[in-house]
Amino acid sequence: MSDCLFCKIVAGEIPAKLVAESDAALAFYDIAPQAPVHVLVIPKVHVTDINEIDGDHPVMDDLIALVQSVVTEEGIKDAGYRLVVNVGVDGQQTVPHLHIHVLGGRRMTWPPG
Ligand code: AMP
Ligand code: ZN
Repeated sequence: MSDCLFCKIVAGEIPAKLVAESDAALAFYDIAPQAPVHVLVIPKVHVTDINEIDGDHPVMDDLIALVQSVVTEEGIKDAGYRLVVNVGVDGQQTVPHLHIHVLGGRRMTWPPG
């Protein structure tokens, strides 16, 4: 999608600090980190949100596989971490390209706001 921020990052048109990559997914540091480790994991193809994924779609498998690499590389696997996927208006999704927030490096609070 030509006017999508994260598609532009995938295309290299907007710079991002990359963390890891697979054939189908990309991981890069969030520009406004909310924790010592704050990485976004996105599909390389444009998917707006989880509502767009049908049952046979491998997107989430691809994303989770890259999340596992990221938490290992970032050294937060054993201490624990939080995955967040905001969806739509009530979910406060601000970038309409599916992404998993990987947050770690500090103790999280609950409930989220
Ligand atoms: P969400 O609110 O769940 O849609 O998350 C969007 C995230 O993208 C926010 O945490 C932003 O800080 C982050 N973000 C926005 N623009 C960029 C960018 N150019 N590079 C990296 N992260 C970004
Ligand atoms: Zn996109």
